[in-house]
Amino acid sequence: MIDSLITMIPGPTPVHPRILARLAEPTVSHLFPAFVTAYRQTLDNFRALMRSASAQPVIVGGGGTLAMEMAVINILAPGEKLLILSQGYFGDRFSALAESFGIPFDLVQAPWGQAVDPAELERRIGSTRYAAVTITHVDTSTGTCAPAEEYCRILRGRDELVILDGVCASGGIDERFDEWGVDVLLTAPQKAFGAPPGLAMCLFGARALAKRRALPRVPGYYADLLRWLPIMENPGAYYSTPAVNEILALHEATLIMMEEGLERRFARHRAIGRAMRAGFAAIGLEQFTAPDCRADTLSVLKYPAGVADAEFRAAMAAAGVTVAGCLGPIAGQAFRVGHMGNIGIEEVTRTLRAAESSLRSCGRQIEDGAAIAAAAAEMTW
Ligand code: PMP
Repeated sequence: MIDSLITMIPGPTPVHPRILARLAEPTVSHLFPAFVTAYRQTLDNFRALMRSASAQPVIVGGGGTLAMEMAVINILAPGEKLLILSQGYFGDRFSALAESFGIPFDLVQAPWGQAVDPAELERRIGSTRYAAVTITHVDTSTGTCAPAEEYCRILRGRDELVILDGVCASGGIDERFDEWGVDVLLTAPQKAFGAPPGLAMCLFGARALAKRRALPRVPGYYADLLRWLPIMENPGAYYSTPAVNEILALHEATLIMMEEGLERRFARHRAIGRAMRAGFAAIGLEQFTAPDCRADTLSVLKYPAGVADAEFRAAMAAAGVTVAGCLGPIAGQAFRVGHMGNIGIEEVTRTLRAAESSLRSCGRQIEDGAAIAAAAAEMTW
């Protein structure tokens, strides 16, 4: 699955030709029986892939940010407090969102490149009453994978509802909705699902649904879970016109994931993560993220002395590989490479080869093939 220019950013990720073919199907009525069936299956597949037997899936036109908003506003009564565990830009976004709705919150920020210490979560919930806690599984700005399962274990059996932002993890790193006791999982199609952007995806557990039902109103109309429930139960009904083609594309993406199998898919992501890290290390690109919390889905690489961000990324683009710059305090000092979704050896090889040549064109002495040789040993799954 290779194009002349590959998009190796942490979302959107390369879209498989099978998914593109569904996207290119004639746009049909949202009431067309074949579409309604595909929508229903997409909802079921999403729930199964997040390892839940009975949670309520919601997939609507929007993006990950809308999914964040739906997750938060549907489960908090006015005045109830949110605890935000943040390891970067997207964790911090929950605080901006809370501010927009006048939701009181405490924000716990890990230093960039590290995750919040689970002991800090214990301290916070031991001293303050929160209605919900947000966890960003992988923060796309820092490449940090939080110990989500451990946080969930700490929160198990307590009253706080658990919101898990899986946007940069779901489908590439294991997430066990039922087993971990997650109450709301939110995600988006354009990362490890490998589908195009354009949808907000949420999974609401029984406690979260009961909470919404107990609220007389929430500060949203399009984002109100109760307005969507009849549609999610019967996708042949109408509330707002669904993104027909995006849903068909996501349907295909879920089929590909189920054909591959979750265990194999996670093993592939782990192997590709290792291969990328080994390859980058071999050519002097150090990881920004602390060793104990590096995500399998992306890498954040520090620029060696003398290598300028714009020049390097332009060289990468000229070599046919798009990588991303960094955000916030590390903008200009590092770059980000996504390695998730439906990618394989060819994408890894092309990315590392482009990194070798781009570093050379930025004045570094790099032995030809060094990155690929180091990566090759890891590329089995
Ligand atoms: N959460 C995380 C962890 C993300 O990486 C992103 C997007 N990069 C979002 C939320 C927001 O998603 P979107 O850009 O689709 O609104």
